[in-house]
Amino acid sequence: MVVAHEHPVDTEEQAAFRAEARAFLEANAAAKRESSPWAVNFHTSEEEGRRHFELGRSWQRTLFDHRFAGLTYPRELGGRGGTSWHESIYREEADHFDASSGFIAATLAMLGPTLMRHGTEAQQQEYVPRLLSGDDAWCQLFSEPGSGSDLAGLACKAERDGDEFVVTGQKVWNSAAQFCDRGMLLVRTNPDMPKHHGITFLLVDMDSPGIEVRPLVQATGASHFNEVFLSEVRVPVSRVLGQIDEGWVPARTVMSNESAFIGGSGGGSTSERLMMLARLYGVDGDPVTRQDLARLHCHERVLAMMSERIMAAVRRRETPPVDPSILKLAVAGNRVLSGNLAMAIAGPAGLISSDERGAWIQSELLSRYGVSIGGGTNEVQRNNLAERALGLPREPTADRDRPWRDIPRS
Ligand SMILES: Cc1cc2nc3c(=O)[nH]c(=O)nc-3n(C[C@H](O)[C@H](O)[C@H](O)COP(=O)(O)OP(=O)(O)OC[C@H]3O[C@@H](n4cnc5c(N)ncnc54)[C@H](O)[C@@H]3O)c2cc1C
Repeated sequence: MVVAHEHPVDTEEQAAFRAEARAFLEANAAAKRESSPWAVNFHTSEEEGRRHFELGRSWQRTLFDHRFAGLTYPRELGGRGGTSWHESIYREEADHFDASSGFIAATLAMLGPTLMRHGTEAQQQEYVPRLLSGDDAWCQLFSEPGSGSDLAGLACKAERDGDEFVVTGQKVWNSAAQFCDRGMLLVRTNPDMPKHHGITFLLVDMDSPGIEVRPLVQATGASHFNEVFLSEVRVPVSRVLGQIDEGWVPARTVMSNESAFIGGSGGGSTSERLMMLARLYGVDGDPVTRQDLARLHCHERVLAMMSERIMAAVRRRETPPVDPSILKLAVAGNRVLSGNLAMAIAGPAGLISSDERGAWIQSELLSRYGVSIGGGTNEVQRNNLAERALGLPREPTADRDRPWRDIPRS
């Protein structure tokens, strides 16, 4: 039983929704303080990864069945038809519970608004309800061996054959692609146009003939991401999201939602667990450790407040008060600080212990740089801030207006 919070600013309707959300969470999820602080999404095998992925999918199904998935999506597409305060209140209540849709929450945040903005009515009807229910899990097939930060240079090609595109090429670093049912795929459909044009956004079934997913095994034994090879994969033209050759437009919507999602999550707070760890290892009186803990705690608090301001504006479909790239940079910085601190507190013992606490320390250490790269590197976020927020001159590029086929490639 979670202690009820008084919210004197709630209207009657809001208070009723808060009570409904709290009752739903109490009936279906474990309270945070009842679960172990060291429980972690850290896998050492593909099977564990799959199990965790499917747990997230089943929580998404529970949300959907109780009308808590897609709070602001239209009712006719499986949502609740609510407004931004439904999201805020649900978030506040869910914060006391240990329940997450995991990877599915990320793709929902990336693809959902993109389908709503750029999808046809038929596409919205076909995909949105299954996205909200978790029946379809989507992976992002954007990056290629030669195109990460310079994503617009991508080379995976698609040629038109009647009512279909025939796709051949390679993608890489595709998170959870081995578990997903469908993919958001960027392909080059017109090499004669400059690189930001001539790209098309396709919605592809991952079980289409010609798709081969090869998991990349990491140091932990798990495979967070994959290589995806496409050999003459046939995708109907009706699966184009947005306009043919102008797929960069919906791709940008996906990427900005991705940054906002990573930043808006606040990256989770670890300072309290690190304080517990410092007590356990007897270094809570050490001045340097105390200083680092205080620094991380302050960063987390500031980030949480900034994140709430930005996400509230995103939910109201207003321009955020500051550029969301700041949030993603701050989350990335906190993850590095937290991983280094966990290791500094535990010392080498943290690396060899195989209990739950040891797994948490190792996870903090080994995954500390992921956020600095995935969803756009720190350097790319700084470029965004320089250009968008500070109005500094664009980074000089020699290839922006040249036909893609004339740009030298390694
Ligand atoms: C945890 C994780 C999950 C991911 N999931 C997915 C996924 O699901 N789907 C997907 O498609 N991709 C995914 N990626 C890939 C990710 O988007 C790319 O790794 C990222 O965009 C960087 O591209 P790159 O690896 O090719 O590095 P590069 O672009 O080659 O960058 C190498 C270095 O050069 C720097 N650099 C490059 N260009 C500039 C510039 N203009 N100015 C300053 N510095 C620059 C970069 O910051 C970086 O330090 C994931 C990556 C990670 C780490």
